[in-house]
Amino acid sequence: MSAIDLAQAVMERIEALARISEDPDRLTRTFGSPAMRKANELVGSWMREAGMTVSEDAIGNLIGRYPGRDEWSKTFLLGSHLDTVRDAGKFDGPLGVIAAIACVQQLHQSQTRLPFAIEVVAFADEEGVRFQTTYLGSKVMAGSFKEQDLKRVDAAGVSMADAIRAFGGNPDQLKSGCRDPNQVLGYTELHIEQGPVLEKKYQPVGVVTAIAGATRVKARFTGQAGHAGTTPMSLRRDALVAAAQFIAAVEACTRDYPALVATVGQIEARPGASNVIPGDVVLTVDVRHQLDGMRTAACARLQEVANEIGEKRGIIVDWEVVHEAQSVPCSRELTLLLAKAARRHLVQVTELPSGAGHDAAVMGEIMPMAMLFVRCKGGISHHPDESVLVDDVRLAIAVLSDFLLLLANQHPVANKKHV
Ligand SMILES: [Zn+2]
Repeated sequence: MSAIDLAQAVMERIEALARISEDPDRLTRTFGSPAMRKANELVGSWMREAGMTVSEDAIGNLIGRYPGRDEWSKTFLLGSHLDTVRDAGKFDGPLGVIAAIACVQQLHQSQTRLPFAIEVVAFADEEGVRFQTTYLGSKVMAGSFKEQDLKRVDAAGVSMADAIRAFGGNPDQLKSGCRDPNQVLGYTELHIEQGPVLEKKYQPVGVVTAIAGATRVKARFTGQAGHAGTTPMSLRRDALVAAAQFIAAVEACTRDYPALVATVGQIEARPGASNVIPGDVVLTVDVRHQLDGMRTAACARLQEVANEIGEKRGIIVDWEVVHEAQSVPCSRELTLLLAKAARRHLVQVTELPSGAGHDAAVMGEIMPMAMLFVRCKGGISHHPDESVLVDDVRLAIAVLSDFLLLLANQHPVANKKHV
């Protein structure tokens, strides 16, 4: 990687990595696949070039370690994930890994050692495509991996345990990948925003305040199916009309809760014939906010609204919370440092919550965590049109590098040897 234009080199590496796919005509790289093996080999070679020693933990997280000034230095973690969704964009995940390597490469080239070691982690699974469960890599590192997930099978019937073995990992030794929070100073992840806020504000990067909590609800509206020609309008119990009224109410309700986002993304109406009144509708509601109190209050209100609509129309409403994740606040200390680093390059620094989940949310359970977002075109992600500007990448690398130096100033003396 040339020191002349690090950002351009990062973009070239993103392109090279995007060519490693398990599908011939699109980018798909799922956990434990041969494509992930090749990706780890390539990224591992870049880590070595940046002066890092490279290893893989028991689930296949790729780790490059750049030593600190002393052998007993604590460690600061940078990283993101190398797995992708199907038909993915190039930047979601890889940008955070490759930009972090670029930061270390700069230190290596200037023969700079910091008072802490840096480890760049390329997580083996964040998207959860293969086994329908997310954050496998970071969960192993944070010690929150659930052993029973090893029994899950993929679409081809391969168990997670066997997939880990085939990749060269060891499903019986996952606990060895767990990090001791006493030995780690924190984790910072650079990631594309995956939303349109920075672009709308003409800001190349933004500092994340928290990863929003989320509630996912399955709501069922049960009415009465009937003949579309013979049942008068006044005698109907049409589940789909009730559901439609509810969907419009979800959007309206968000106005009462600043920054709340709520989405009905899936709906199924039965029996599903043009000449039959729909008697049964199931839909999903996804509600997110960085303040858990705001989210739970909004969910309670939405349930009330659904019940009110149901009562007026003779529709039974079942409300089932199928997923709930608490908001994970970013470390105030690390976030202030990131913002300070960003202010060296920008007049104004935007702070924003992350509506999407990230490995940082899992790492944040056991250590201080911060995130830097990079503007992406149109806010598009999980799509081949995902795009970032090389100038934004250049700025993001500069901010992350300055952040590490500011952090080093806060830890001028290596912490005493941990015994
Ligand atoms: Zn991602």
